[in-house]
Amino acid sequence: MSTTIPGVGIGLGVAQGPVARMAAPLPAPADEPSMLDVAAETARVREAVAAVARELEQRGATAGGAAQDVLEAQAMMAEDPALESEVDTRLAAGATAERAVHDAFASFRDTLVAVGGYLGERAADLDDVAQRVIARLQGVAAPGLPEPGHPYVLVATDLAPADTALLDLDQVLALVTSEGGPTSHTAILAREKGIVAIVGAAAAADLVDDQVVIVDAAAGVVTIDPTEEELRRAQNRADARAAAASAPITAGALADGTAVPLLANLGNPEGAAEAVALGAEGVGLFRTEFLFLSSANAPTVAQQRESYTRLLSAFRGKKVVVRALDAGADKPLAFLNDAHEENPALGLRGLRALRANEDILREQLTALSEADAAVAASGEPANLWVMAPMVATVEETTYFVELAREFGIKTAGVMVEVPSSALLADRVLKHADFASIGTNDLTQYTLAADRLLGSVAGFQDPWHPAVLGLIGITGRAGKELGKPVGICGEAAADPLLAVVLIGLGATSLSMAPTALADVRATLLKYSLEDARRIAEAALAADDAASARDAARAAAAPTQ
Ligand code: PEP
Ligand code: MG
Repeated sequence: MSTTIPGVGIGLGVAQGPVARMAAPLPAPADEPSMLDVAAETARVREAVAAVARELEQRGATAGGAAQDVLEAQAMMAEDPALESEVDTRLAAGATAERAVHDAFASFRDTLVAVGGYLGERAADLDDVAQRVIARLQGVAAPGLPEPGHPYVLVATDLAPADTALLDLDQVLALVTSEGGPTSHTAILAREKGIVAIVGAAAAADLVDDQVVIVDAAAGVVTIDPTEEELRRAQNRADARAAAASAPITAGALADGTAVPLLANLGNPEGAAEAVALGAEGVGLFRTEFLFLSSANAPTVAQQRESYTRLLSAFRGKKVVVRALDAGADKPLAFLNDAHEENPALGLRGLRALRANEDILREQLTALSEADAAVAASGEPANLWVMAPMVATVEETTYFVELAREFGIKTAGVMVEVPSSALLADRVLKHADFASIGTNDLTQYTLAADRLLGSVAGFQDPWHPAVLGLIGITGRAGKELGKPVGICGEAAADPLLAVVLIGLGATSLSMAPTALADVRATLLKYSLEDARRIAEAALAADDAASARDAARAAAAPTQ
């Protein structure tokens, strides 16, 4: 008999294979006084820290992409001056280099965990740096990936970016971690590389080497010792996904020919080429803040113009929806909102923060309209739409739309991420040219569950009928007023939910480009009438799990 353990699935893949566990961490170094003098121990630490930092940078350069940013951030962590002075204090008190590093990093780790959220999820990165430095000091190999000699499902407490970055994708069939949440680096990198992954599966701590498992990211479940029948079904699903990925790329449409433009969510212009290759028909969400997350100062107009021009040039003749800077909570930007807030998700964020710094918003709109003009001057223009994040009122809508018009932006809209905007969508859409529903935040605010917090991840489910109801209200308002209503949250990347969203009145879907193939293939199986019927079934459910089941049942006859 098989058993299952729950976790948070990343993406929609399914994979099977034997477990190989990550090597256990090094034991804590002995807590005994040093036999060397302080200067000698200090020199040892400095050498080891520098060597580890350079090695991380090296790995980053080899891996490239998001992994490079993460590894460079980790190298900076290793050489953080505050951490260095924590180590020095311990060395001065007579500790060995190994013990000083162990204790100093552990105290920093505890601070990060206490802060929680995004910073809390960096704890694994810090642990990894500590292990590498201690291994170097002890002259032993840093704990790393297993090498069982055959493809395997990698099981770990949590993965450090240094390990995830260089995973051999011919060997690693799937990832399972017992810790880490949906925004841990394991999750971010797994998403980027399209690796089947489940994080935060606490019971995975008991999995042992060679045990066969099915990792079902779509269901967020690891099946231990699966039956032949379960293995066969999982394999069929994996094959169907592979077939969808290699199917010819066509414009997004339902079975009855209803067009459903399939767009890409991007964080920087470098992602454009891959998005186009995967069949993106434009950009449904360009997250401008990702260009500036590490900046201490507001980006200049020239810097922004350069990025936007590159983006728009890659999508000539196509729609590109750019979002004004969305700072706060999960996307902190020091230059927009650095005041301490007890509840940053409910604070001065999104459009509120931009209004409090209107010069920054004006500069961004200037850069966007200049980039638009520059692209138009050199050939076919892109179709630029600009929207404001975290809009909560009709008054905020008119404020943003009027300001955007001042800068010659022809199509100005708002994101519907706060329940108030969905509930008043008929009034919001009288003023805005379009709405784009951010289901990540809309779910967070509807269910009152922090999207960054692993402990409430169960609430962060866009299948919840309350969330679907708000989407339905917005879709209806869009239809009545003849205004487009797109979806740009993670929900659009779940193929069956994508069908439901169209049934609720969404007119386009935007997602991580790696999700386009699955969604494209699934939409083609249902007519608009089917989609409405499946949506009705989900809406009538009591909770997210039953909405998913009801939609599956309603979708089944035509599958
Ligand atoms: C959302 O909230 O769904 C969204 C698309 O915006 P972000 O994830 O960047 O907050
Ligand atoms: Mg959002």
